[in-house]
Amino acid sequence: MLQKLLAYQRKREHREQVSRFFSASNIYYTNLYSKTHRKWGMTMVRVVVAGGGWAGCAAANAARKAGAEVTLLERTDMLLGTGLVGGIMRNNGRLTAWLELEALGAPDLLAIIGAMTRHANIDFPGHRHASLYDVDRIEPMIRAFLEESGVEVLTQTRATGVQMDGRLIHSIVVEGEEQIQGDVFVDATGTAATMRKCIRHDGVCVMCILRCPSFGPRVSIAAQAGVEEIEGEYMEAMSGSCKLIKDSLGAWLVERLERHGVVVVPIPKYVMARDNLRRKACQQYALKEYADNLVLLDTGPAKLMAPFFPLEKLRLIPGFSSARYNDPYSGGKGNSIRYSMITPHDNTLKVSGVENLFCAGEKTGLLVGHTEAIVTGTLAGHNAVRLAAGKPLLDLPRFLATGDIIAYINESVRTEEGRRRKYTFSGSVYFERMKELNLYTTQHREAERRARQAGLSGIFSRKIAGQKIV
Ligand SMILES: Cc1cc2nc3c(=O)[nH]c(=O)nc-3n(C[C@H](O)[C@H](O)[C@H](O)COP(=O)(O)OP(=O)(O)OC[C@H]3O[C@@H](n4cnc5c(N)ncnc54)[C@H](O)[C@@H]3O)c2cc1C
Repeated sequence: MLQKLLAYQRKREHREQVSRFFSASNIYYTNLYSKTHRKWGMTMVRVVVAGGGWAGCAAANAARKAGAEVTLLERTDMLLGTGLVGGIMRNNGRLTAWLELEALGAPDLLAIIGAMTRHANIDFPGHRHASLYDVDRIEPMIRAFLEESGVEVLTQTRATGVQMDGRLIHSIVVEGEEQIQGDVFVDATGTAATMRKCIRHDGVCVMCILRCPSFGPRVSIAAQAGVEEIEGEYMEAMSGSCKLIKDSLGAWLVERLERHGVVVVPIPKYVMARDNLRRKACQQYALKEYADNLVLLDTGPAKLMAPFFPLEKLRLIPGFSSARYNDPYSGGKGNSIRYSMITPHDNTLKVSGVENLFCAGEKTGLLVGHTEAIVTGTLAGHNAVRLAAGKPLLDLPRFLATGDIIAYINESVRTEEGRRRKYTFSGSVYFERMKELNLYTTQHREAERRARQAGLSGIFSRKIAGQKIV
């Protein structure tokens, strides 16, 4: 697998040279390409995905597999968005979702994550059978894979608006006024925000991985298309973990962390930890164990399972006397703020009020996690192609956890109480529901059985567009 990934990377470098050559005439090149296909008598579909986090990458991959020409727009210089700093997969119900995705025909990104895993099958407080991917090394692999699959990846390309034709989006306008045309669009821009929104909470930009000061604000495509999104300061929450530079920690601590993948360090009584659990986006970690201990995970850097911890207090703890943060840089003061809006959509992930727009990942509202972003991204990308090809949209059945979570959130957000919660396969309210409804399984065979029962085995790897018109 690793050999294959390295080969992808080499080919990517070559493609970069070619794309630099064409960069001055990117739009022209893109349109020319799809028109050529039409001339050859193919039903071609063009899907444009805005936002290159896990949701956008999954949407681009699914749309490409379904036979579309795909362009992926990302405002920063790297793909994966907040996936550049997370890393935890397969914990609790996320394993079920992983197995369902494989059974439904979307194993590709998971296979790369598997190859980039530093620790597999580990337990930490409240979480079982987790795996941790290497956040420092995974991005080039995903990018190379997408490019090799034929997805046009445009980084440092920030979407700033849309051109509409009635209730249809005609093109996305990117910085510099260029227009990227498509038949169908996916909004995977995560939590849209300007720095002003984050500052409202902490009084500062904590300099998180989204790097707004350098790459500009995050812009919601749905909002640009005139969709009225549900907004509320009460929904907003802080990211639930931060990263420390390993070299800044005691050697004995690093040695244990690298050996076991997890280290739990009791917080001494003389260190007064602030009550920072309350504000967590990741309610699956809002447990007492996380207030009494520092839980560290090895994702490349040392992932500290707390939204923030004042540096001067952290340095009082043995092993942390020289500690430094690397994400967010001001991790002693706060963390990134997310979940400021919900984009109204149905269970096929089509955005209400726009004929040709889907949403995925955090853009859908209150969904937390890489796995969750990959699930919704895959469905959104696949359905985008179905829409353009005139096929019925896929609404995953509720006896699949991957279908139930989408429908359940759509029901829950109708109440203010439901909007205060966050939803993830890995804990809190939704994992409890999975267990109650017997949706939680760690068995490959059971996930395959469910996919078969739904008549959807391998559905996401089937080609829908790009076939000859006969
Ligand atoms: C610190 C931290 C730790 C986390 N740890 C974990 C973990 O261990 N495990 C886990 O499962 N989840 C974790 N999460 C949550 C998880 O990362 C997210 O819920 C999930 O990855 C969201 O993916 P997304 O694609 O929806 O959004 P994002 O990751 O936010 O991606 C959105 C992308 O869209 C881009 N974008 C925004 N606006 C525009 C625009 N106008 N034009 C072009 N591009 C645009 C952004 O630059 C970004 O790259 C963590 C989150 C954080 C912040």
